[in-house]
Amino acid sequence: MRLGTRVAIVGAGPAGLALANVLQQAGIDCVVVERQSRAYVEARARAGVLEHRTVEFLNDHGLADRLLAEGARHGSCEFRHLGERFSVRYRDLTGGREHHVYPQQFLVRDLISAYLAGGGQLFFSHPAVALDGLDGDRPVLRCQPDGDAEPLELECDFVAGCDGFYGASRQAVPAGRLRAYEKQHEFGWLALLAETPPAGDEIIYALHEDGFAGHMLRTPSVTRFYLQCPVGDHPENWPDQRIWSALHRRLGMTDAELAPGPITEKNVLDMRSFVVEPMQYGRLFLAGDAAHIITPAGGKGMNLALADAEELATRLLAHYRGAGTHALDGYSAACLPRIWQAQEFSHWMLHLLHSPAAGQDDSAFLHRLQLSRLTQLRDSPAYSTMFSDSYVGSSGRPTAH
Ligand SMILES: Cc1cc2nc3c(=O)[nH]c(=O)nc-3n(C[C@H](O)[C@H](O)[C@H](O)COP(=O)(O)OP(=O)(O)OC[C@H]3O[C@@H](n4cnc5c(N)ncnc54)[C@H](O)[C@@H]3O)c2cc1C
Repeated sequence: MRLGTRVAIVGAGPAGLALANVLQQAGIDCVVVERQSRAYVEARARAGVLEHRTVEFLNDHGLADRLLAEGARHGSCEFRHLGERFSVRYRDLTGGREHHVYPQQFLVRDLISAYLAGGGQLFFSHPAVALDGLDGDRPVLRCQPDGDAEPLELECDFVAGCDGFYGASRQAVPAGRLRAYEKQHEFGWLALLAETPPAGDEIIYALHEDGFAGHMLRTPSVTRFYLQCPVGDHPENWPDQRIWSALHRRLGMTDAELAPGPITEKNVLDMRSFVVEPMQYGRLFLAGDAAHIITPAGGKGMNLALADAEELATRLLAHYRGAGTHALDGYSAACLPRIWQAQEFSHWMLHLLHSPAAGQDDSAFLHRLQLSRLTQLRDSPAYSTMFSDSYVGSSGRPTAH
């Protein structure tokens, strides 16, 4: 089957779906193709923390009704170390900016429903396998569905590559046209989802000599946890009993405070930071994880993906309203400062949270730096205000062109 459209969107994650909804609302024809099934993407649990400006963007487009009704608002987080605890009240320190906690898979479900209800075209189980003619006037996106379903070809004005780090879009750019900046971190995170209620209503970051532990809010009955682990560690090394005892020890909690429940997901995260510049090649625009990967420290990944989608949508709208191609040409330059600011914050936060690997020559020195950062966060209003501003995210939104 061959179809024509204005914007072909690769990937039905937060970036692709938000872009599709905004274009659809503006009457700009688009088609989304997604490698996985609908059931799979609507159940894929990942992020859960939405920044103030992300919610404002979604709400402006009528896409935040359920998240506002069912999500929880948060304005403080807690740090723990050696039995000491303190909270940073970032809502108070940023003039009312706050987080909404709403699981990513619920947002994906809402964005799919809104797009389909508006008559949007979305092909699930249709992996993009080739993007041709990106430097011409009408690129063609080719999808090869599983089984013996008919291949799909989409001829379009522009391709939005929103297909995550391992997608096909970035790979379709000829070698040497994008510059990649990359860092592989020297520690891993064991990422866990447990059917257990959160132990309190704050995100908790615990520094411990055994390694960092994180307590992240998701829903009243499901909590995400992170445990620092060595690079290359395997989930099989972490039977449930070992996990609960590490969480209790590092978070300084008893069984009564944090009740062990079934662990439904156990992954060792590849702790990588990555950015490509520019985020455009010819008529291809990369958005979200397709263009940049950030560690989970600071909860920025989904927020950056949605900010890229908003920026790209604003510029595509301007283009189709007659502003010319310069609106689109400025896409990368508009996104990259925000992306690098988030990378810098996430990197700083990693080095606040992580216990340096024992036994290295400089580990005692690095540990002292870590404690100094923590003390400043507790004692210095200027330091904690700066942290809060980055943590909760700026309020800047794209301007019309
Ligand atoms: C455990 C974990 C915890 C996280 N916690 C947070 C957090 O608290 N806060 C936060 O902001 N971020 C967090 N993140 C990061 C966040 O989940 C990602 O940054 C976000 O999903 C990026 O959205 P995206 O739309 O760019 O990409 P994705 O969500 O990856 O969506 C890309 C889509 O493209 C599809 N696709 C891939 N290849 C193809 C192809 N060839 N053809 C068609 N479709 C394709 C994929 O199936 C997928 O549906 C976390 C991530 C993980 C793994």
